[in-house]
Amino acid sequence: MVADHLRRRDIHDQRVLAAFAAVPRERFVPEDLAERAYDDAPLPIGEEQTISQPYVVAITAQALRLQGHERVLEIGTGSGYAAAILGVLAHEVISVERIETLANRAIAALDSLGFTNVHVHHTDGTLGWPAGAPYEAIAVAAGAPAPPPALLAQLAIGGRLVIPTGGADSQRLVRITRKSDIDYGEEDLGDVRFVPLLGAQGWPVPSTR
Ligand code: SAH
Repeated sequence: MVADHLRRRDIHDQRVLAAFAAVPRERFVPEDLAERAYDDAPLPIGEEQTISQPYVVAITAQALRLQGHERVLEIGTGSGYAAAILGVLAHEVISVERIETLANRAIAALDSLGFTNVHVHHTDGTLGWPAGAPYEAIAVAAGAPAPPPALLAQLAIGGRLVIPTGGADSQRLVRITRKSDIDYGEEDLGDVRFVPLLGAQGWPVPSTR
């Protein structure tokens, strides 16, 4: 089971482990891959995108230090799996996805599991979701050349932004903490590989997409 695997690595937040035990990952992967749903690996979900590796979702969730009262913004809904995990850990989740078919599939999966506190929107998440700001936590599930200014602006004071930044092929996962109106701290959480964050404040959108 995923939670056992995560416990053996450096995931020690009990609420995070409980969330992984509670959310059935097979409901967020294509039916023909259901038997691989509990491998600690990314899997294709269509539209050239992947459901993130559980360990990476867990590192991100743990780094957000959620206690249950927060409003969280997620950029890159994909399958909706990480949004569901965040929905267990926080009060409300707003998740934004740029590919409409993925957003619709994620909404269906989340609805079928009874998540009423996770709201998925189809738009460019590099601009955040200003209507819900400020957020105590923001998780970005796609690699950015640099943290989008819109997301930094929508972070509450004391809030945490976890985002992969760097090149298109590999990134560093960083946690940015907003210390005041103008001060932000940054910590390195390790090497990761994410699909690119495409949009106005991310990588340029290829003309075929
Ligand atoms: N958290 C997801 C991971 C999906 S992969 C899961 O658990 O399944 C990252 C997703 O980010 C892809 O679906 C991709 O389409 C999306 N994405 C890339 N750029 C984006 C942007 N600017 N706004 C919103 N979503 C974006």
